[in-house]
Amino acid sequence: MDPFTKKRQVNQTMLDGLRDSEKPIAFFCECDRDDCYQATWLTCDDYERNLQVEDWRALADVHWERPGEPDRETEFAMSA
Ligand SMILES: [Zn+2]
Repeated sequence: MDPFTKKRQVNQTMLDGLRDSEKPIAFFCECDRDDCYQATWLTCDDYERNLQVEDWRALADVHWERPGEPDRETEFAMSA
């Protein structure tokens, strides 16, 4: 099983267990790295809503990079 699928499964198990909570919880970063267990804080509502978005992944800030999208540094530079 690839790292993304594995971490998505863990996150969904967490979601099922904590769905009643309104507080943000630490989901695993769903990047492709096998050795990444960074946390990204989302409420269950936000996580579940984002799951409807095609190709969306919960990503920790450090792994927030996808082809075709400006990275955070570029956005930061532009808003500065
Ligand atoms: Zn990651």
